Amino acid sequence: MVHRFLTERFVYMPADGSVDRPILGAVLGDERTLYIDAGNSKRHAAAFRESVRREGLVRQPLTALTHWHWDHSFGAAEDTETLLIAHERTRNALTTQVGLDWSDAAIDERVRAGTEIEFCATYMKKEFGSDRDIDVRLPDVTFDRSLTINLGGATCRIDHVGGVHADDSCFLYVPEERVLFLGDALGPAIYDGPRYYKAGDLLRLLERVRAYDAEWYIESHHRPVQSDEFWAEMKEFGALAEIVLAYGDNEAKVSRELEAALGRPLTDDDRRTVGEFMEGERR
Ligand SMILES: [Zn+2]
Repeated sequence: MVHRFLTERFVYMPADGSVDRPILGAVLGDERTLYIDAGNSKRHAAAFRESVRREGLVRQPLTALTHWHWDHSFGAAEDTETLLIAHERTRNALTTQVGLDWSDAAIDERVRAGTEIEFCATYMKKEFGSDRDIDVRLPDVTFDRSLTINLGGATCRIDHVGGVHADDSCFLYVPEERVLFLGDALGPAIYDGPRYYKAGDLLRLLERVRAYDAEWYIESHHRPVQSDEFWAEMKEFGALAEIVLAYGDNEAKVSRELEAALGRPLTDDDRRTVGEFMEGERR
């Protein structure tokens, strides 16, 4: 059994950084089950879905995607019967991936041409080995701003939020369980040279997150965390963004101000994040 219960109606499979597998979730309604994200491969999707099915938890399934990135979407081809729901920009982005050649040579060529990045190429090769069983499935249902799915005893609202990580990013909110699935929306931009954050963009997203009444927060490549822990982290993250707004790309000043705000010396992680905000300032 690879799935775990987070709440009565929310189960998930933890992330696996070794092959860049994000968290997969499922909302267990009385009439329908909503899978949140499809995973990075058919094998990834099957591992989670078979586990949930074996326990008899699945009713007429649907799948919704947080954003188009391969590690969240390529698993959708595992099951072509299940209706696939995504933002219209997610569908547009996935359209560009249909029919591509996934051999090492072809992937490496796209990295050289700048349409793929080394990070994804490395993990795709790890996840798929020599068996490139990749079919990109396009969403059946798309929406623009927001969509609510009634599952019976539970609902899921999908809200488009965008951001530098992926402009199609959505939050998925299950009010009955007080679970907010954030995908990678709070992550840095990764497809466009060195990783970066935009201070204003991050503060805008944190404002959006604040509007939900949630007890559990799920970032796809992390682990589910409860409100106290999540907001303690976000307070530091938000403080950094505010400091960057005030001092721009003055890295020494930003670092000193951040140290003062946090009341402790900066860790290597802090310094890396400061560097990613500085990169954002230079754009
Ligand atoms: Zn992503």
